[in-house]
Amino acid sequence: GARTSPEIGFGQQAFTRPPGAPPLPRIARGEGVWLIDTEGKRYFDASSGPVASNLGHGHPRILAAMEAQARQAVFAYPSQFESAANLEFAERLGRLAGPGLDRSFIVSGGSEAVESAIKFARQHAVATGEASRWKVIGRQPGYHGNTLGALAVSGDEHAHEVFGPLLRAVPRVPAPLSYRLPPNHTVESHARACAQALEDAILREGPETVLAFIMEPVGGLATGALVAPDSYYATVRQICTRHGVKLIYDEVMSGAGRTGRFLAADHWPDARPDIAVLAKGLSAGYAPLGAALVSAEMVRVVAEAGGFMHGFTYNAHVMSCAVGAAVLREVEDADLVGNAARMGELLLGKLQALAAHSPLVGDIRGKGLLLAVELVADKHSKAMIPLEKVAPARVQQLALRHGLALYCRRTSRGAYGDWLMLSPPLTVTAEEIGILAERLGAVLDDYAA
Ligand code: PMP
Repeated sequence: GARTSPEIGFGQQAFTRPPGAPPLPRIARGEGVWLIDTEGKRYFDASSGPVASNLGHGHPRILAAMEAQARQAVFAYPSQFESAANLEFAERLGRLAGPGLDRSFIVSGGSEAVESAIKFARQHAVATGEASRWKVIGRQPGYHGNTLGALAVSGDEHAHEVFGPLLRAVPRVPAPLSYRLPPNHTVESHARACAQALEDAILREGPETVLAFIMEPVGGLATGALVAPDSYYATVRQICTRHGVKLIYDEVMSGAGRTGRFLAADHWPDARPDIAVLAKGLSAGYAPLGAALVSAEMVRVVAEAGGFMHGFTYNAHVMSCAVGAAVLREVEDADLVGNAARMGELLLGKLQALAAHSPLVGDIRGKGLLLAVELVADKHSKAMIPLEKVAPARVQQLALRHGLALYCRRTSRGAYGDWLMLSPPLTVTAEEIGILAERLGAVLDDYAA
């Protein structure tokens, strides 16, 4: 089919793509890990879009659930009607997330869920007589969404430079990077220093003014699947508890089974957050969906103080909840959490083999099927690829030619490095992991040539 030129098109692509950017393939359909364009070319969905399509495409049981729900009711406002879809979704989510995180506030996506978590924490503090607590400490780098509040707590210098005057400043503390370490530091000593920086920031701000600390337990696009040493999580939890600061885990990318546990938080049972935020994989891309998870006790406190003063038209949207329920059913019935752990190991091994052979791969990190490959100009000096070489965009373009759809990222204009997210659907098979690795190898060879 003829392509609409970006100049006369409207909508997301024409709005955000730079002038002169090569045309994108036009999606026709998807099946499993494959996306197929209108010319019949097949692309391996190696990053699940932006780490969202956890169940792959065209999943028959999800489509059946959507169709059945569509024939019943798609939308009914939750202050007027309850729905079986909402009840089933909330029950399954609460059971999978576990005690302390078994109540959910259901929204349409990650940024909304982050906003909801912060406002809920704030209202809870007011209800418990701690109205002086309002500051939210974030990490640098870090990403929590693009709405003003979520952006304010995200550690992206470039975005703050552009939107800065609109945002109320909040302190940020360094994230414990594992590849580009400060001089004279090991991964462990740097992580200890980062945890100490959190306590220093709380003390400097005045603990009585600090509401929450927000972090991605396994990083996403801001850090390229950053994982800290185990001790970091326990220390952060102790610091937050000591100063009455609520710990919020942003699990928009890491949640819903992606890291080989239902929550990434489940890897560190001695560091449970007070609030966790999910989206993306929760609906696996089949509908807009997100959730802020809190304890029954926190809900009781806020309810007694008059209820949560917050809501959206599409809270607990019936179709989105039906999708969420079907996704969680599938996560359990098909043991997708176990598959993410097993396939993650397999993919990690293959990426390590690629790294040994490619001059471009500086680091590989992550957990389960949330993996990232950091690209460098020089492996030994860890020199970054110069900004003007637009590394991620070029790799993404080359990958499309090799039939690989990749999510590539440059945070803060490349201040922290360049990486590719390797995060295929959790339904991926061992054979498909082989195809992915082979194609990625070809892309890296091409890029280096
Ligand atoms: N938090 C994290 C960790 C994310 O990765 C994202 C999305 N990339 C968001 C929040 C924002 O989610 P959304 O785009 O659904 O608003």
